[in-house]
Amino acid sequence: MKHLLSYWERSVLLRPFDFAILGAGLIGKQAAIRIKTKYPGARVALVDRSPVTYGASTRNAGFACFGSVSEILDDFTRSPQDEVLNLLEKRYRGINELVGSFGAEAIGYRPTGSHEVFTERTELEKAREHLDGINILLRDKLGINEVFSLRKDNAFGMNIEPGLIFNPHEGALNSGMLNEVISEKAHKLGIIPLYGLDIKSISKAQNAYIMEAANGLELTCNQLLIANNAFAAPFLPAEDIQPARGQIIITKPLAGLPFDGIFHSDKGYVYFRNIDERILIGGGRNRFLEQENTYDFEGSSELLQYLKDYLANVVIPGRPFEIDMHWSGIMAMGAEKIPIVTRVDDNLLLCVRMSGMGVALGPVLSREIADLV
Ligand SMILES: Cc1cc2nc3c(=O)[nH]c(=O)nc-3n(C[C@H](O)[C@H](O)[C@H](O)COP(=O)(O)OP(=O)(O)OC[C@H]3O[C@@H](n4cnc5c(N)ncnc54)[C@H](O)[C@@H]3O)c2cc1C
Repeated sequence: MKHLLSYWERSVLLRPFDFAILGAGLIGKQAAIRIKTKYPGARVALVDRSPVTYGASTRNAGFACFGSVSEILDDFTRSPQDEVLNLLEKRYRGINELVGSFGAEAIGYRPTGSHEVFTERTELEKAREHLDGINILLRDKLGINEVFSLRKDNAFGMNIEPGLIFNPHEGALNSGMLNEVISEKAHKLGIIPLYGLDIKSISKAQNAYIMEAANGLELTCNQLLIANNAFAAPFLPAEDIQPARGQIIITKPLAGLPFDGIFHSDKGYVYFRNIDERILIGGGRNRFLEQENTYDFEGSSELLQYLKDYLANVVIPGRPFEIDMHWSGIMAMGAEKIPIVTRVDDNLLLCVRMSGMGVALGPVLSREIADLV
Protein backbone atom coordinates (compact mmCIF):
# COMPACT_ATOMS: atom_id res chain seq x y z
CA MET A 1 0.00 0.00 0.00
CA LYS A 2 1.35 3.39 -0.93
CA HIS A 3 1.98 5.66 2.04
CA LEU A 4 0.66 9.17 1.38
CA LEU A 5 2.14 11.75 3.73
CA SER A 6 0.16 13.94 6.09
CA TYR A 7 1.37 17.39 7.01
CA TRP A 8 2.35 16.12 10.52
CA GLU A 9 4.35 13.26 9.08
CA ARG A 10 6.20 15.48 6.64
CA SER A 11 6.87 18.32 9.07
CA VAL A 12 7.52 16.39 12.30
CA LEU A 13 7.64 12.60 12.36
CA LEU A 14 9.55 12.02 9.15
CA ARG A 15 11.40 15.32 8.86
CA PRO A 16 15.06 14.84 7.89
CA PHE A 17 17.09 12.77 10.33
CA ASP A 18 20.61 13.53 11.45
CA PHE A 19 21.48 9.85 11.20
CA ALA A 20 19.61 6.92 9.66
CA ILE A 21 20.78 3.34 9.99
CA LEU A 22 19.55 0.88 7.41
CA GLY A 23 19.21 -2.51 9.11
CA ALA A 24 18.19 -3.10 12.73
CA GLY A 25 20.15 -6.30 13.27
CA LEU A 26 22.80 -6.55 15.98
CA ILE A 27 25.16 -4.31 14.03
CA GLY A 28 22.67 -1.58 13.13
CA LYS A 29 21.25 -1.44 16.66
CA GLN A 30 24.64 -1.28 18.35
CA ALA A 31 25.88 1.34 15.90
CA ALA A 32 22.73 3.41 16.54
CA ILE A 33 23.32 3.17 20.28
CA ARG A 34 26.93 4.32 19.96
CA ILE A 35 25.97 7.22 17.68
CA LYS A 36 23.11 8.36 19.90
CA THR A 37 25.37 8.11 22.95
CA LYS A 38 27.97 10.25 21.19
CA TYR A 39 25.40 12.79 19.97
CA PRO A 40 22.48 12.65 22.46
CA GLY A 41 20.67 15.53 20.78
CA ALA A 42 20.72 13.95 17.31
CA ARG A 43 17.67 12.46 15.59
CA VAL A 44 18.73 8.87 14.95
CA ALA A 45 16.42 6.53 13.01
CA LEU A 46 16.75 2.76 12.84
CA VAL A 47 15.14 1.44 9.68
CA ASP A 48 14.17 -2.17 9.03
CA ARG A 49 11.77 -4.08 6.83
CA SER A 50 10.84 -6.45 9.66
CA PRO A 51 9.37 -6.01 13.16
CA VAL A 52 12.09 -8.15 14.82
CA THR A 53 14.80 -8.01 12.12
CA TYR A 54 15.07 -10.57 9.35
CA GLY A 55 18.61 -11.49 8.43
CA ALA A 56 21.06 -13.30 10.72
CA SER A 57 20.88 -11.64 14.13
CA THR A 58 17.78 -13.42 15.44
CA ARG A 59 18.43 -16.57 13.41
CA ASN A 60 21.94 -17.72 14.42
CA ALA A 61 23.01 -20.44 16.85
CA GLY A 62 23.79 -18.27 19.88
CA PHE A 63 27.51 -19.01 19.94
CA ALA A 64 29.80 -16.59 21.75
CA CYS A 65 32.93 -17.74 20.00
CA PHE A 66 36.09 -16.41 18.40
CA GLY A 67 37.37 -19.36 16.38
CA SER A 68 38.40 -22.98 16.73
CA VAL A 69 41.88 -24.26 15.82
CA SER A 70 40.82 -25.70 12.47
CA GLU A 71 38.81 -22.54 11.65
CA ILE A 72 41.84 -20.35 12.39
CA LEU A 73 44.06 -22.59 10.24
CA ASP A 74 41.49 -22.36 7.44
CA ASP A 75 41.34 -18.56 7.80
CA PHE A 76 45.14 -18.38 7.48
CA THR A 77 44.81 -19.87 3.99
CA ARG A 78 42.45 -17.09 2.91
CA SER A 79 43.68 -13.90 4.61
CA PRO A 80 47.01 -12.59 5.90
CA GLN A 81 47.83 -13.89 9.36
CA ASP A 82 47.83 -10.48 11.07
CA GLU A 83 44.36 -9.69 9.68
CA VAL A 84 43.02 -13.01 10.96
CA LEU A 85 44.53 -12.36 14.38
CA ASN A 86 43.20 -8.78 14.49
CA LEU A 87 39.69 -10.05 13.81
CA LEU A 88 40.08 -12.78 16.35
CA GLU A 89 41.02 -10.19 18.94
CA LYS A 90 37.97 -8.09 18.04
CA ARG A 91 35.75 -11.15 18.42
CA TYR A 92 37.28 -12.03 21.78
CA ARG A 93 36.97 -8.48 23.10
CA GLY A 94 33.46 -8.15 21.62
CA ILE A 95 32.17 -11.18 23.50
CA ASN A 96 33.63 -9.91 26.76
CA GLU A 97 32.06 -6.53 26.13
CA LEU A 98 28.63 -7.99 25.39
CA VAL A 99 28.72 -9.88 28.67
CA GLY A 100 30.22 -6.93 30.55
CA SER A 101 27.80 -4.28 29.34
CA PHE A 102 24.53 -6.19 29.26
CA GLY A 103 25.21 -8.80 31.97
CA ALA A 104 25.44 -12.56 31.52
CA GLU A 105 21.96 -13.18 32.89
CA ALA A 106 20.26 -10.66 30.60
CA ILE A 107 21.70 -12.23 27.46
CA GLY A 108 21.45 -15.84 28.66
CA TYR A 109 25.24 -16.21 28.54
CA ARG A 110 26.81 -19.27 30.11
CA PRO A 111 30.63 -19.57 30.16
CA THR A 112 30.55 -23.27 29.31
CA GLY A 113 33.73 -23.26 27.27
CA SER A 114 33.79 -24.86 23.84
CA HIS A 115 35.05 -28.09 22.33
CA GLU A 116 36.22 -28.73 18.82
CA VAL A 117 35.48 -32.30 17.77
CA PHE A 118 36.87 -34.19 14.79
CA THR A 119 35.36 -36.87 12.61
CA GLU A 120 38.47 -37.24 10.48
CA ARG A 121 41.82 -38.38 11.87
CA THR A 122 43.85 -36.19 9.48
CA GLU A 123 42.01 -33.05 10.61
CA LEU A 124 42.62 -33.88 14.26
CA GLU A 125 46.29 -34.50 13.62
CA LYS A 126 46.67 -31.24 11.71
CA ALA A 127 45.00 -29.27 14.52
CA ARG A 128 47.11 -31.02 17.13
CA GLU A 129 50.28 -30.23 15.19
CA HIS A 130 49.48 -26.48 15.10
CA LEU A 131 47.92 -26.16 18.54
CA ASP A 132 51.02 -24.93 20.39
CA GLY A 133 51.86 -22.45 17.62
CA ILE A 134 48.35 -20.99 17.67
CA ASN A 135 48.43 -20.79 21.46
CA ILE A 136 51.61 -18.72 21.23
CA LEU A 137 50.07 -16.37 18.64
CA LEU A 138 46.99 -15.94 20.84
CA ARG A 139 49.05 -15.44 23.99
CA ASP A 140 50.84 -12.57 22.25
CA LYS A 141 47.61 -11.13 20.81
CA LEU A 142 45.11 -11.64 23.64
CA GLY A 143 47.39 -11.90 26.63
CA ILE A 144 45.98 -15.26 27.70
CA ASN A 145 47.97 -18.45 28.08
CA GLU A 146 47.02 -21.76 26.53
CA VAL A 147 43.68 -20.82 24.98
CA PHE A 148 43.40 -24.30 23.47
CA SER A 149 44.17 -27.57 25.20
CA LEU A 150 43.86 -31.13 24.00
CA ARG A 151 41.56 -33.49 25.86
CA LYS A 152 42.04 -37.13 25.23
CA ASP A 153 38.79 -38.46 26.69
CA ASN A 154 35.48 -38.62 24.90
CA ALA A 155 33.21 -38.28 27.88
CA PHE A 156 30.29 -37.19 25.77
CA GLY A 157 29.72 -40.51 24.03
CA MET A 158 30.07 -38.94 20.58
CA ASN A 159 31.22 -40.87 17.57
CA ILE A 160 34.40 -38.85 17.00
CA GLU A 161 38.15 -39.26 16.75
CA PRO A 162 39.77 -39.66 20.20
CA GLY A 163 40.80 -36.11 21.10
CA LEU A 164 38.87 -32.87 21.57
CA ILE A 165 40.24 -29.35 21.75
CA PHE A 166 38.90 -27.35 24.68
CA ASN A 167 38.72 -23.55 24.90
CA PRO A 168 37.51 -22.20 28.27
CA HIS A 169 36.97 -18.67 26.92
CA GLU A 170 33.89 -19.30 24.76
CA GLY A 171 30.30 -19.90 25.75
CA ALA A 172 26.64 -20.09 24.82
CA LEU A 173 24.18 -17.23 24.75
CA ASN A 174 20.51 -16.76 23.97
CA SER A 175 20.19 -14.83 20.70
CA GLY A 176 16.59 -13.85 21.42
CA MET A 177 17.55 -12.31 24.75
CA LEU A 178 20.63 -10.60 23.30
CA ASN A 179 18.58 -8.92 20.57
CA GLU A 180 15.90 -7.95 23.06
CA VAL A 181 18.19 -6.20 25.55
CA ILE A 182 19.97 -4.32 22.78
CA SER A 183 16.63 -3.23 21.30
CA GLU A 184 15.45 -2.08 24.71
CA LYS A 185 18.58 -0.01 25.16
CA ALA A 186 18.20 1.56 21.73
CA HIS A 187 14.58 2.47 22.37
CA LYS A 188 15.29 3.84 25.86
CA LEU A 189 17.91 6.15 24.39
CA GLY A 190 15.29 7.65 22.09
CA ILE A 191 16.44 6.09 18.84
CA ILE A 192 13.48 6.24 16.47
CA PRO A 193 12.37 2.79 15.27
CA LEU A 194 11.06 2.80 11.70
CA TYR A 195 10.26 -0.87 11.25
CA GLY A 196 8.26 -2.27 8.37
CA LEU A 197 9.98 -0.21 5.69
CA ASP A 198 11.52 -2.21 2.87
CA ILE A 199 14.11 0.13 1.34
CA LYS A 200 14.29 -0.22 -2.42
CA SER A 201 16.73 2.50 -3.39
CA ILE A 202 19.25 4.95 -2.02
CA SER A 203 20.23 8.20 -3.68
CA LYS A 204 22.61 10.99 -2.90
CA ALA A 205 21.25 14.52 -2.49
CA GLN A 206 22.91 17.75 -1.44
CA ASN A 207 24.63 16.99 1.89
CA ALA A 208 22.15 14.17 2.45
CA TYR A 209 21.03 10.71 1.42
CA ILE A 210 17.48 9.71 0.58
CA MET A 211 16.12 6.20 1.05
CA GLU A 212 12.98 5.23 -0.79
CA ALA A 213 10.83 2.44 0.61
CA ALA A 214 8.59 0.03 -1.27
CA ASN A 215 5.52 1.92 -0.02
CA GLY A 216 6.80 5.15 -1.58
CA LEU A 217 7.96 6.77 1.67
CA GLU A 218 11.14 8.78 1.36
CA LEU A 219 13.47 9.24 4.31
CA THR A 220 16.12 11.93 4.21
CA CYS A 221 19.14 11.92 6.48
CA ASN A 222 22.37 13.81 6.77
CA GLN A 223 24.38 10.66 7.58
CA LEU A 224 23.34 7.24 6.31
CA LEU A 225 24.87 4.06 7.71
CA ILE A 226 24.21 0.98 5.61
CA ALA A 227 24.18 -1.93 8.07
CA ASN A 228 22.02 -4.54 6.43
CA ASN A 229 24.84 -7.04 5.94
CA ALA A 230 24.17 -9.46 3.06
CA PHE A 231 21.21 -7.40 1.85
CA ALA A 232 23.46 -4.42 1.14
CA ALA A 233 24.68 -6.04 -2.08
CA PRO A 234 22.10 -4.41 -4.42
CA PHE A 235 22.97 -0.96 -3.03
CA LEU A 236 26.73 -1.54 -3.25
CA PRO A 237 27.41 -3.31 -6.55
CA ALA A 238 31.12 -2.49 -6.41
CA GLU A 239 31.60 -4.37 -3.13
CA ASP A 240 32.22 -8.11 -2.88
CA ILE A 241 29.17 -9.17 -0.81
CA GLN A 242 27.71 -12.64 -1.27
CA PRO A 243 24.77 -14.13 0.64
CA ALA A 244 25.50 -17.29 2.62
CA ARG A 245 22.61 -19.19 4.10
CA GLY A 246 23.12 -20.92 7.43
CA GLN A 247 20.57 -23.59 8.29
CA ILE A 248 19.76 -24.82 11.77
CA ILE A 249 17.65 -27.56 13.30
CA ILE A 250 16.58 -27.97 16.90
CA THR A 251 15.33 -31.18 18.48
CA LYS A 252 12.40 -31.65 20.78
CA PRO A 253 13.51 -31.92 24.45
CA LEU A 254 15.80 -34.88 25.18
CA ALA A 255 16.17 -35.84 28.84
CA GLY A 256 19.63 -36.17 30.39
CA LEU A 257 21.86 -34.80 27.64
CA PRO A 258 25.48 -35.91 28.19
CA PHE A 259 27.02 -32.47 27.52
CA ASP A 260 26.59 -28.79 28.26
CA GLY A 261 28.28 -26.25 26.02
CA ILE A 262 29.11 -25.31 22.48
CA PHE A 263 30.87 -27.54 19.95
CA HIS A 264 32.65 -26.81 16.68
CA SER A 265 33.59 -29.20 13.92
CA ASP A 266 34.73 -29.21 10.29
CA LYS A 267 36.69 -25.90 10.37
CA GLY A 268 33.80 -24.17 12.14
CA TYR A 269 31.29 -25.06 9.43
CA VAL A 270 29.37 -27.42 11.71
CA TYR A 271 28.31 -26.33 15.18
CA PHE A 272 26.04 -27.70 17.87
CA ARG A 273 25.04 -26.99 21.45
CA ASN A 274 22.41 -27.75 24.04
CA ILE A 275 19.63 -25.29 24.86
CA ASP A 276 16.55 -25.84 27.04
CA GLU A 277 17.22 -29.62 27.13
CA ARG A 278 17.34 -29.72 23.34
CA ILE A 279 20.16 -29.99 20.85
CA LEU A 280 20.58 -27.24 18.28
CA ILE A 281 22.82 -28.07 15.33
CA GLY A 282 23.62 -25.95 12.31
CA GLY A 283 25.99 -25.42 9.43
CA GLY A 284 27.25 -27.79 6.80
CA ARG A 285 27.18 -24.96 4.26
CA ASN A 286 30.62 -25.94 2.94
CA ARG A 287 29.14 -29.21 1.67
CA PHE A 288 26.54 -27.37 -0.45
CA LEU A 289 28.32 -24.12 -1.25
CA GLU A 290 26.58 -23.18 -4.47
CA GLN A 291 23.11 -24.04 -3.19
CA GLU A 292 23.62 -22.04 0.03
CA ASN A 293 24.79 -18.93 -1.80
CA THR A 294 21.24 -17.57 -1.69
CA TYR A 295 18.90 -14.99 -0.15
CA ASP A 296 16.15 -17.60 0.14
CA PHE A 297 15.24 -18.22 3.79
CA GLU A 298 13.49 -21.47 2.88
CA GLY A 299 15.92 -24.25 3.85
CA SER A 300 16.77 -27.24 1.70
CA SER A 301 15.92 -30.89 2.26
CA GLU A 302 19.50 -31.97 1.41
CA LEU A 303 21.10 -29.87 4.11
CA LEU A 304 18.36 -30.76 6.58
CA GLN A 305 19.20 -34.41 5.98
CA TYR A 306 22.93 -33.72 6.37
CA LEU A 307 22.34 -32.12 9.79
CA LYS A 308 20.02 -34.92 10.89
CA ASP A 309 22.60 -37.53 9.85
CA TYR A 310 25.36 -35.66 11.67
CA LEU A 311 23.25 -35.60 14.81
CA ALA A 312 22.33 -39.27 14.53
CA ASN A 313 25.78 -40.58 13.56
CA VAL A 314 28.16 -38.26 15.40
CA VAL A 315 26.55 -36.30 18.24
CA ILE A 316 24.12 -38.73 19.87
CA PRO A 317 24.76 -42.03 18.09
CA GLY A 318 22.06 -44.60 18.66
CA ARG A 319 19.73 -42.24 20.47
CA PRO A 320 16.29 -41.51 18.97
CA PHE A 321 15.33 -37.83 18.54
CA GLU A 322 12.65 -35.74 16.87
CA ILE A 323 13.20 -32.44 15.05
CA ASP A 324 11.07 -29.60 16.38
CA MET A 325 12.15 -26.73 14.10
CA HIS A 326 14.26 -26.02 11.03
CA TRP A 327 15.15 -22.44 10.05
CA SER A 328 17.84 -20.44 8.34
CA GLY A 329 19.57 -17.08 8.54
CA ILE A 330 21.39 -15.22 5.80
CA MET A 331 25.00 -14.21 6.42
CA ALA A 332 27.30 -12.14 4.20
CA MET A 333 30.62 -13.38 2.86
CA GLY A 334 33.33 -12.20 0.50
CA ALA A 335 36.52 -13.67 -0.92
CA GLU A 336 38.22 -12.58 2.29
CA LYS A 337 36.56 -13.20 5.64
CA ILE A 338 36.78 -9.55 6.61
CA PRO A 339 33.94 -7.08 7.33
CA ILE A 340 33.60 -3.81 5.43
CA VAL A 341 33.66 -0.87 7.87
CA THR A 342 34.29 2.43 6.14
CA ARG A 343 33.19 5.94 5.31
CA VAL A 344 32.31 6.29 1.62
CA ASP A 345 31.70 10.03 1.44
CA ASP A 346 30.72 12.93 3.72
CA ASN A 347 27.24 11.45 4.17
CA LEU A 348 27.56 7.70 3.76
CA LEU A 349 29.09 4.95 5.92
CA LEU A 350 29.13 1.16 5.62
CA CYS A 351 29.25 -1.60 8.22
CA VAL A 352 28.42 -4.74 6.27
CA ARG A 353 29.67 -8.24 5.31
CA MET A 354 30.03 -9.61 8.81
CA SER A 355 31.38 -12.91 7.42
CA GLY A 356 29.47 -14.97 9.99
CA MET A 357 31.03 -13.20 12.98
CA GLY A 358 28.65 -10.32 13.72
CA VAL A 359 27.52 -11.54 17.14
CA ALA A 360 31.06 -11.31 18.47
CA LEU A 361 32.16 -8.33 16.37
CA GLY A 362 29.18 -6.04 17.08
CA PRO A 363 30.55 -4.17 20.11
CA VAL A 364 33.91 -3.39 18.50
CA LEU A 365 32.73 -2.59 14.96
CA SER A 366 29.92 -0.35 16.22
CA ARG A 367 32.56 1.62 18.14
CA GLU A 368 34.63 1.91 14.97
CA ILE A 369 31.56 3.38 13.23
CA ALA A 370 30.94 5.86 16.04
CA ASP A 371 34.58 6.95 15.72
CA LEU A 372 33.96 7.68 12.03
CA VAL A 373 30.96 9.98 12.58
C1 LIG B 1 23.26 -19.95 11.28
C2 LIG B 1 24.12 -18.80 11.70
C3 LIG B 1 25.16 -19.00 12.61
C4 LIG B 1 25.97 -17.94 13.02
N1 LIG B 1 26.95 -18.14 13.95
C5 LIG B 1 27.67 -17.09 14.44
C6 LIG B 1 28.64 -17.25 15.44
O1 LIG B 1 28.91 -18.35 15.89
N2 LIG B 1 29.32 -16.18 15.89
C7 LIG B 1 29.08 -14.93 15.39
O2 LIG B 1 29.71 -13.97 15.84
N3 LIG B 1 28.17 -14.73 14.43
C8 LIG B 1 27.47 -15.78 13.93
N4 LIG B 1 26.56 -15.62 12.92
C9 LIG B 1 26.54 -14.35 12.22
C10 LIG B 1 25.79 -13.26 12.92
O3 LIG B 1 24.51 -13.70 13.30
C11 LIG B 1 25.72 -12.11 11.91
O4 LIG B 1 27.03 -11.76 11.49
C12 LIG B 1 25.08 -10.88 12.51
O5 LIG B 1 23.85 -11.21 13.10
C13 LIG B 1 24.90 -9.86 11.43
O6 LIG B 1 24.21 -8.79 11.97
P1 LIG B 1 23.81 -7.57 11.05
O7 LIG B 1 23.08 -6.62 11.91
O8 LIG B 1 24.99 -7.10 10.31
O9 LIG B 1 22.86 -8.20 9.92
P2 LIG B 1 21.42 -8.85 9.99
O10 LIG B 1 21.19 -9.52 11.28
O11 LIG B 1 21.28 -9.67 8.76
O12 LIG B 1 20.47 -7.61 9.93
C14 LIG B 1 20.23 -6.93 8.73
C15 LIG B 1 18.87 -6.27 8.87
O13 LIG B 1 18.64 -5.49 7.71
C16 LIG B 1 17.27 -5.60 7.36
N5 LIG B 1 17.18 -5.28 5.94
C17 LIG B 1 17.84 -5.91 4.94
N6 LIG B 1 17.56 -5.32 3.76
C18 LIG B 1 16.68 -4.31 4.03
C19 LIG B 1 16.01 -3.35 3.23
N7 LIG B 1 16.20 -3.30 1.91
N8 LIG B 1 15.17 -2.47 3.84
C20 LIG B 1 14.99 -2.52 5.18
N9 LIG B 1 15.61 -3.41 5.98
C21 LIG B 1 16.45 -4.29 5.42
C22 LIG B 1 16.92 -7.04 7.67
O14 LIG B 1 15.54 -7.19 7.88
C23 LIG B 1 17.73 -7.29 8.93
O15 LIG B 1 16.97 -7.06 10.08
C24 LIG B 1 25.75 -16.66 12.48
C25 LIG B 1 24.70 -16.46 11.58
C26 LIG B 1 23.90 -17.51 11.19
C27 LIG B 1 22.78 -17.28 10.21
